[in-house]
Amino acid sequence: MQRILMLLCSSLLCLFGKGFSQEPLEGESKIVVIDPGHGGTDSGAIGVNGIREKDITLQIALEVIRANQKSRTKNVEIYLTRYKDTLISLTDRVRLARVLQADLFLSIHCNWSSNLSAHGTEAYAAYPKTRAKENTRKSIGFALDLVMILERKYQHKNRGVKFARFQVLRETISFCPSVLLEVGFISNPEEVLCIMDNTYSLEILNLIKQKR
Ligand SMILES: [Zn+2]
Repeated sequence: MQRILMLLCSSLLCLFGKGFSQEPLEGESKIVVIDPGHGGTDSGAIGVNGIREKDITLQIALEVIRANQKSRTKNVEIYLTRYKDTLISLTDRVRLARVLQADLFLSIHCNWSSNLSAHGTEAYAAYPKTRAKENTRKSIGFALDLVMILERKYQHKNRGVKFARFQVLRETISFCPSVLLEVGFISNPEEVLCIMDNTYSLEILNLIKQKR
């Protein structure tokens, strides 16, 4: 947390350094902000056996960080909007991405349905804005890659990429590509086991690293 605060301060001081939409230069690290959905008093959806969405989203995000630390290629710096079971406002999640001048924002969530057989992965991008065409194009591309890799590797049903007005997407699209990923249904007894397996994190990290 201290590191984040220091970064927040130093980034605020040099806001005019790197432009928001500028591509990372060769050899420069890409900055990715991963947003584990919910937290604290907001549990999100409650799945099979009382599994809480907020715990799964944090687990996946922390695992992406761990995998990145172990990785040999250090071309990505990853920050989370929360590292613990705390509730961070949506405004502050967006603010962090803005201050860090993120190159990509990825919010992680889990789906839920009263129909226990509902399953599959879906991803959301912000409704296209004429002033953020390039970020919209990249968001859709990344969202498609995410749902397709989980379909290919885990035979998850591909529920597609959709547009949404979620605050974290609406308010980040002007300065970076942003995607909200619903990894799967924690209400589905089989799918929840796969979600808790942690292997998604590697796929997510690999895709992030490829996107330069
Ligand atoms: Zn959620």
